[in-house]
Amino acid sequence: AAGAHVAALVVGSGYGGSVAALRLAQAGVHVHLVEMGMAWDTPGPDGKIFCNTLRPDHRSYWLRERTKAPLNFFLGFPIDRDITRYTGVLDAEDFAGITVYQGRGVGGGSLVNGGMAVTPRRENFADILPGVNAAEMYATYYPRANTELGVGTVNPAWFDSTDYYQYARVGRKHAQRSGFPFVFVPDVYDWDYMEREAAGTVPKSALAGEILYGNNHGKKTLQHTYLARAKATGRVTVSALHRVASVSPASGGGHGGYTVVIEQLDTGGAVVATKTVTADRVFFAAGSVGTSKLLVKLKATGALPALNDEVGKGWGDNGNVMCGRANHVWDATGSLQSTIPCAGIDNWAAGGAFAEVAPLPTGIETFASFYLAITRNPNRASFRWNSAAGRAELDWQTAWKQPSIDMAKTIFDKINAKEGTIYRSDLFGVYKIWGDHLTYHPLGGAVLGRATDGYGRLAAYPGLYVIDGALIPGNTSVNPFVTITALAERNIEAIIAADL
Ligand code: FAD
Repeated sequence: AAGAHVAALVVGSGYGGSVAALRLAQAGVHVHLVEMGMAWDTPGPDGKIFCNTLRPDHRSYWLRERTKAPLNFFLGFPIDRDITRYTGVLDAEDFAGITVYQGRGVGGGSLVNGGMAVTPRRENFADILPGVNAAEMYATYYPRANTELGVGTVNPAWFDSTDYYQYARVGRKHAQRSGFPFVFVPDVYDWDYMEREAAGTVPKSALAGEILYGNNHGKKTLQHTYLARAKATGRVTVSALHRVASVSPASGGGHGGYTVVIEQLDTGGAVVATKTVTADRVFFAAGSVGTSKLLVKLKATGALPALNDEVGKGWGDNGNVMCGRANHVWDATGSLQSTIPCAGIDNWAAGGAFAEVAPLPTGIETFASFYLAITRNPNRASFRWNSAAGRAELDWQTAWKQPSIDMAKTIFDKINAKEGTIYRSDLFGVYKIWGDHLTYHPLGGAVLGRATDGYGRLAAYPGLYVIDGALIPGNTSVNPFVTITALAERNIEAIIAADL
């Protein structure tokens, strides 16, 4: 309602926002959680909340007339199809040199991601965030995040026997024959549920191709973990399909809190109402891209002019690059594939490369091994406000992926040489080997200790905080959400102790 006042307003309901909401509410603070995407708690006409990866409908993409699948070709043919424009769950947000995939809805990226829940090696963490006490992170906040997120690992005996991980066993064989360490990767998918899916005693999700546009069962998304506990406190109000458009000091500054302008959206993406609330504290948790875009806009347009010059800077793609390999006919990867990746190839010894053995759940035998590599890539981009166009732009260049391709080749050139195999060139275009046009892991744009203080405070504005992936300077060396969660746990604990 107009003129409403809230103690704490959280912008976005992904990992950072969910941690903030839970911990603030537990500390007795009333929280208004504002999320631009849908609630994703109501089944559609087919009885399901989310649509299948193989049969995308209007629920798949955020405000697109055509799907934009990360693997957009097969055997050289484009696979994208027309859909009805709708506030779907996956945003393929296009910037000049890169498409950034993000989750949209209550639960943020947890709704669409692979659930791979990886704690980085301590020495890598210390390199990436030298200003954060690593001993504390590894003794307290990483364990806390892993527990709250419900992280687990596949049962190795089941892994060895199920048809659904044949593709990963082929990945293991090839990795080991080339001398690379092969590791199981923890995940928040309920592994017992997956075994029951295979046994046919529960509805299938991971084993029925669900992932990119949401899982109807099995995955412990934030809706089932942090957000469920936050709501149970009775102190958290969630507004879905509401987008924060502006934050500025109320009554010209001082201790009057902040005026927050919120746009209510319909499922076609149109603004149907504009609301204003006053908040004592605002936590930016709109994701690396969402928070960065908002902050550069608010600084440039005069809403928050004293934000420092580091705002918008230090953005990276976590070194994401994808590729496929064509196997010999005796190395079939299986027509049945679990969508949940559970293993990877570690060649961090080469200076920075980890490749998850990813599924290619097409429903037919492809003889393909598919990988998402996370690499060390030093390139960093900036968000800038384009006042003529009225939008924030990112200056990433596609050529900046080359260090990632070089790192990934330290793994796959060797495996191809050993196996006598070649790269697939039909998955990302016609004769295109590398998926170098996208990232799943946007990070940075309001880096800890630069745009903010050492705990995410936007120092020029008491009561404004950043608490999401924007804090991390472009790379985590592994899949990022456990680190985003653990860092949020660390920061909110300090903020509650010192500021409230
Ligand atoms: P997000 O989770 O992105 O949440 C931000 C939320 O804010 C979103 O819900 C968004 O809709 C909302 N928002 C944005 N702007 C506004 C606004 N102005 N007003 C209101 N709300 C707003 N990571 C892993 O660790 N393991 C994986 O296996 C993995 N797989 C992935 C697979 C895919 C396909 C994708 C897209 C990502 C994957 N990730 C994975 C990445 C992971 O999901 C993200 O790193 C993580 O979700 C980021 O958390 P966050 O809190 O920073 O922001």
